[in-house]
Amino acid sequence: MSTSVLVINCGSSSIKYALVSERREDRIFGLAENLGSADARIKGVTTGGAALELSIPHADHEKALETILERLAHHNPQAIGHRVVHGGTLTKAELLTPEIIERIREATPLAPLHNPAHLVGIEATMRLFPELPQVAVFDTAFHQTMPSHAYRYALPKFLYTQHNVRRYGFHGTSHAYVSERGSMLAGSFKQGGWLTAHLGNGSSTCAIWNGQSVDTSMGLTPLEGVVMGTRSGDVDPSIHSFLASNLGWDIYKIDKMLNSQSGLLGLSDLSNDMRTLIEASEQGNEDAALAIEVFCYRLAKSLAGLSCGLPRIDGLFFTGGIGENSAYIREKTVSYLPHFGFNLSKELNDNLKRGTEGRIDHGTGPQIWVVPTDEEGRIAKETEHVVDEVTASATKKPDAEAAIA
Ligand code: AMP
Repeated sequence: MSTSVLVINCGSSSIKYALVSERREDRIFGLAENLGSADARIKGVTTGGAALELSIPHADHEKALETILERLAHHNPQAIGHRVVHGGTLTKAELLTPEIIERIREATPLAPLHNPAHLVGIEATMRLFPELPQVAVFDTAFHQTMPSHAYRYALPKFLYTQHNVRRYGFHGTSHAYVSERGSMLAGSFKQGGWLTAHLGNGSSTCAIWNGQSVDTSMGLTPLEGVVMGTRSGDVDPSIHSFLASNLGWDIYKIDKMLNSQSGLLGLSDLSNDMRTLIEASEQGNEDAALAIEVFCYRLAKSLAGLSCGLPRIDGLFFTGGIGENSAYIREKTVSYLPHFGFNLSKELNDNLKRGTEGRIDHGTGPQIWVVPTDEEGRIAKETEHVVDEVTASATKKPDAEAAIA
């Protein structure tokens, strides 16, 4: 990166930000939370790694962004990159124009919790900093290379053609970063067939062939796929009619249960946090042990399924809070994949330092790597790329026009 980019991720009552420049160690980042309440505050890390804690009572998104930018102005950011969960059928990062903002708004029914919050942030930064180029980077864009047999549901055709009901996939910036970085570490940059397992509070898997996503576990929404912190992942879709008929639940209650009360939390009846579950299972909690087992088994099943999208498997990358930090979960997951020739090294796996990248197999069979994700870094890089492209085409234009004249 030759410039510094401010990366913004707006939620309904929070804003994550990071000022990304050349060196990762210099990154300034933080979280504005509880926006709109008396307890609104900004917590983060500022220049030189110093801690920041700032009370901003009753601040809304605009006020919080103003405060963040005031504090960062002397670092002279040259562009703003917005994380946007759903870009509909947009295939790449885009400079924010009225037309692109409208496309993000049109994708709102597909991400009703996320896209409206992103739009609040986008509109606030456009008002506050009209002179800075701003770019939207979509979680869905990386998966737009999936073939139709991977992204179509076996549902009536008009639901796809008239209502955009299809699989989109999410966590695209993470899968893109990790597969690029990992394949580079493996000596075959953007070549070959790789599986990625992004395991955090939200989790998903992806199959990547020659640098392009060919299939992924999440679908129309981030609920499909593997077991997550509070999300169920795949269930029989008839669960809706079963619960409606037998328990009288309405669609909102069922949706809430599947998104917020299921997954590791639902299975364990204890916590959505993997660390807590591993500790509890070590102390004999059987529900916690089962939650971990279901998590790893379903994850392995998802990876095995996605392997159908790859002509061959060169390796597997683990990332996200769980994938980067839990040797136990990595080992258990790989143990459920005995048919792929993975040869995990217990020693390398157990001894990998937290938060570092490294190879954890014996050197035979498909490779296994841990690659810490860097979604902010990836968003900044894509933002810079879009700004460079726009600048280049703007400077080329007069020549082209002169040539036509
Ligand atoms: P993320 O959403 O990527 O921040 O990941 C959050 C998840 O990572 C939570 O379930 C944490 O419990 C889990 N996690 C973080 N560190 C560890 C660890 N050392 N062992 C197991 N899980 C961990």
